Amino acid sequence: MQKKQKKLGLTTKIFIALIVGSLCGVILHSYIPASDIRDKFLIEGLFYIVGNGFLRLMQMLVVPLVFCSIACGAASIGDTKTLGKVGIKTIVFYLVTTAIAITVALSVGKVLNPGIGLDMSSIQKAEPTIAEATTLTETLLNLIPTNPLNALAEGNMLQIIIFSLIVGVILAKLGKKVEVVHKFLSQFNDIMMEMTMMVMRVAPYGVFCLTARTFANIGFDAFIPMLKYMLGVFIALGVQCFVVYMLLLKVFTGLNPIKFIKKFAPVMGFAFSTSSSNSTIPLSIETLNEKIGVSKRISSFTIPLGATINMDGTAIMQGVAVIFVAQAFGINLDFMDYITVIATATMASIGTAGVPGVGLITLSMVFASVGLPVEGIALIMGIDRILDMTRTAVNITGDAVCTTIVAYQNNDFNTDVFNDKECKDELFA
Ligand code: ASP
Repeated sequence: MQKKQKKLGLTTKIFIALIVGSLCGVILHSYIPASDIRDKFLIEGLFYIVGNGFLRLMQMLVVPLVFCSIACGAASIGDTKTLGKVGIKTIVFYLVTTAIAITVALSVGKVLNPGIGLDMSSIQKAEPTIAEATTLTETLLNLIPTNPLNALAEGNMLQIIIFSLIVGVILAKLGKKVEVVHKFLSQFNDIMMEMTMMVMRVAPYGVFCLTARTFANIGFDAFIPMLKYMLGVFIALGVQCFVVYMLLLKVFTGLNPIKFIKKFAPVMGFAFSTSSSNSTIPLSIETLNEKIGVSKRISSFTIPLGATINMDGTAIMQGVAVIFVAQAFGINLDFMDYITVIATATMASIGTAGVPGVGLITLSMVFASVGLPVEGIALIMGIDRILDMTRTAVNITGDAVCTTIVAYQNNDFNTDVFNDKECKDELFA
């Protein structure tokens, strides 16, 4: 009897696309001579259009989805006391995991000594972009949008979160009186979710083109003098993702960490290829709901918040970069300097937007706090893209783990879904 052919799931397809895309990019960079067909038609033509077209489709979903899902999520949590409790718990988790992340990074950096014996002349330098420091009062005031429509139009995530939270709380308070608006937002949210599913069907093609173009542009040559620094970042990211998060998950929920990683892997692959936490929000909310069992009323609020303020992977890169640049420039850092780095990198993580490359800009804040030269950033700029891809995958895993713990403790978790007894959508099955 002929065996029925099993259809490949989205997870497998995304991973195949990632691997084949990276290989294809490296081959194009190293083995195919420059020509119009390679450069103009393939890399900057086909790969660029399909990859960025896909990215834009995902980005298109973010603002309306975040607004509707936070408003509906807050409305369904109902009372402000529970909402406050969930919010505070989530923020504390986010801050603590970020502080752990930098500590892991500093420790790995101290063991590996990535900057010792570095021949700085072999490293190509670029002009660093420096973050403008904003005062704490300004940062706090900036949370309040003076014009919410402007915040939506500009995609200012923190302002959108604040505004939609207030709308949600009022929806709950006024109840029946605003039923129509509540229903409208909730149905619009469903439309956005359906759109996410539709866009995800083309994800493997988008992922292939994005990774192929990235690797075709960077190749491997630039990496060689930086291998130790990169290795440090990768090891620290690995420890955070597979040891720290999985321990936290096990201790706080008792859930099987391997199962969690398996189910969440496509979201990590997606974040890797896009380098953007923001673009990953829709897929992350959907996966947590459909495959892991987290109720949407929690994830719709904590995931956009995490994508905006919780960047553990970015903090890790910044921690290793501090050690690397201090050693490369022969600057000694003492214990108090390390404490300062932990504090400023945690703050920098809040200030880093969930889009490609911003972690490198906020790194200047961290360097300035301990007197490291900002020119140090120029050393690592050339190879940052690959690290950005990897740290973004860790950034969004951190958000998902904290969300799962908070949902579990709040009884907003469906263990049957996690144990595969229920799966609502065949795309995610
Ligand atoms: N690309 C990162 C993210 O979106 C931010 C960064 O570290 O540059 O999460």
